[in-house]
Amino acid sequence: MSWGTTLMLGIISKFNAYINKDIGSDNESNKISVTIRLLCLIVMVYFIVRMIIDVAFGIGILAMCDFVTFGVSICGFLASYHISKNALTWMFIILTSVWGIANIWMCGMESSAQNFILLVIILYYFSSYGRYWFKALFSLVYFGFYMLMGRLFAAKDPYLTITGMQNSVYHTICMAMMIVCISTVAYVFSKDSQTLENKLIEYNHKLEEKASTDPLTLLYNRGKALELLEKLVKKSDVNTFSLSICDIDFFKRVNDNFGHDIGDEVLKGIAAILAKATKNRGFVARWGGEEFLIVFPEMNGDDACASLYNIQNDVRKMVVMAGDKEVKVTMTFGLTEYDASLGIDQNIKEADNKLYRGKESGRDKIVY
Ligand code: GH3
Ligand code: MG
Ligand code: MG
Repeated sequence: MSWGTTLMLGIISKFNAYINKDIGSDNESNKISVTIRLLCLIVMVYFIVRMIIDVAFGIGILAMCDFVTFGVSICGFLASYHISKNALTWMFIILTSVWGIANIWMCGMESSAQNFILLVIILYYFSSYGRYWFKALFSLVYFGFYMLMGRLFAAKDPYLTITGMQNSVYHTICMAMMIVCISTVAYVFSKDSQTLENKLIEYNHKLEEKASTDPLTLLYNRGKALELLEKLVKKSDVNTFSLSICDIDFFKRVNDNFGHDIGDEVLKGIAAILAKATKNRGFVARWGGEEFLIVFPEMNGDDACASLYNIQNDVRKMVVMAGDKEVKVTMTFGLTEYDASLGIDQNIKEADNKLYRGKESGRDKIVY
């Protein structure tokens, strides 16, 4: 990186830190102080440009006034480091209003200074956490103010004589300044709310995931499985699908002989096998303690049975070490092809009955 870029980055980061500096009072966010600091900087640039233009046009008195308002903007900027958010907002609103009226009085409505009303209304809406009716009242008062200015100044000649060309220059730079100010206020506040919204969406997503996941096996829990099944049933008018309830055989013995922690390891191992076997072609959930529900969408009973044979073999081969001892388990499966005339509960019951028959007749079986 060249020294020029390094210097530039250094200045930007210092400027950023200075603009974002906290006022260090109350429990307030410094967003409004930062916004008003930025507005003061924009306004300062505006007044410098205007002073140059005033001098070029030979309107000395206007240049003097702009110099004074430039000084006021510097005071406003510095005050933003010392006074509270509310005081700062009101100070900005009052000073801007005074400037707007004085400007219209001196240069006339054609200078477009009356548009300051839009800026103060937007600033007030964003910065105040007060009641909405109060904000509406604020808009109404400023609307009245706007109408009054129209009545008072539109028909009158301004204090200064300003040519059409000069007016069009004043109008252009005033509108440019207003638009930059309004965009700045909208940017500062919308940037925050968008970040917040994204965080909320992400947080909701995490919550949803947590609410539908079994913490030990990281499989879906029963609630999520039922939700997915309901969705599948809605689509099943055209497709068949199969489901299986399966259960680890003599799992109590694993706990009794090797301890609960090893039992947990076995559960996690089984969960990994089931998750791998159903990846991209079904889903699996922890149905209860050592029971799982496996769903095979778009598979008839025969195809699902073939998949279960593979799962059964993988389970038989799985080894969990308990110290120097090998822990092995088997599983029994009850399988049914979904019968739409029975509904979800009855189909699950059917699979459960078959699982029970498998247990009765010796375990480590697929009953279909
Ligand atoms: P069967 O072959 O008839 O299914 O016998 P089983 O011993 O597997 O069945 P049983 O219902 O008698 O025992 C299930 C055991 O599963 C009892 C319970 O302590 C254990 N279990 C349930 N959830 C967990 C868990 O999260 N972790 C551990 N380690 N054990 C669990
Ligand atoms: Mg069991
Ligand atoms: Mg059981």
